[in-house]
Amino acid sequence: MEYKNLEDFIARAGHMNDGIWYPRVTSIISIKSKPALYRYYASMPSWFHAERIKNKSAEEGTLIHEAVQSAMVGEEYDNHTENTLAAVLAYKQFNDQLNLISEKNKIEYKIVNQQEKYAGTIDAIVTIGDKTGVLDIKTSPSVYRDYNLQTAAYMESARKDFPEVSTRWILLINTNQTCELCGSNRRIKGGKETLSLNTKNDYSINCLHKWSALKGNVLLKELKDFEMDYEAFLGAKKLWEWEYAGYLKKIGYKQ
Ligand SMILES: [Zn+2]
Repeated sequence: MEYKNLEDFIARAGHMNDGIWYPRVTSIISIKSKPALYRYYASMPSWFHAERIKNKSAEEGTLIHEAVQSAMVGEEYDNHTENTLAAVLAYKQFNDQLNLISEKNKIEYKIVNQQEKYAGTIDAIVTIGDKTGVLDIKTSPSVYRDYNLQTAAYMESARKDFPEVSTRWILLINTNQTCELCGSNRRIKGGKETLSLNTKNDYSINCLHKWSALKGNVLLKELKDFEMDYEAFLGAKKLWEWEYAGYLKKIGYKQ
């Protein structure tokens, strides 16, 4: 991540708690390279265009987070869009089988790890069946391995507050449309359209497409190998501290 100056670094890379500055988990893991991101930027007409779409899809992602988090604790959500309605409907149908349980004080749960010096916000601490764990909502196309680092950092801290926490889940939520004529899929995110043609149907190449209403897709993935992931997070943190040693020294941050 790039920072303009010390003030920008303090504001965006960390979080104050009781007068002490802690780096954010999401800032720390940004030190890991993300090859898929190079492909994304290279496919765009300009840096500006790519940033605009990325920011807009981040806003859409935030709305889906809020809407689904409300649904998790049985609250109404006031800010619905066609997209969040489709996401929440899909979540509710998915949850009919799952019976995920959470509570208001376990949504957007703030953690501070004083020992290892990091802070973050957990989307939700939930119970599914006989397990309690950390749940992170994602609206990306698939479950990326980077999520293992982020959720390991969260779980290590969460289980200090809730000893029953023993696992991590990614709740992947996406919305798309299906062509009623050829069965192809269309996804619009941040204003950018991604078409997945139905390869089993030769007609799909020339189809003029008649798109269905938006529908949500939900996938729940449990992440294993906590110990390995947490070690890797601490490794990433070391590298992050090296990268920003200049700023961290000025802040008076001590490892
Ligand atoms: Zn079609």
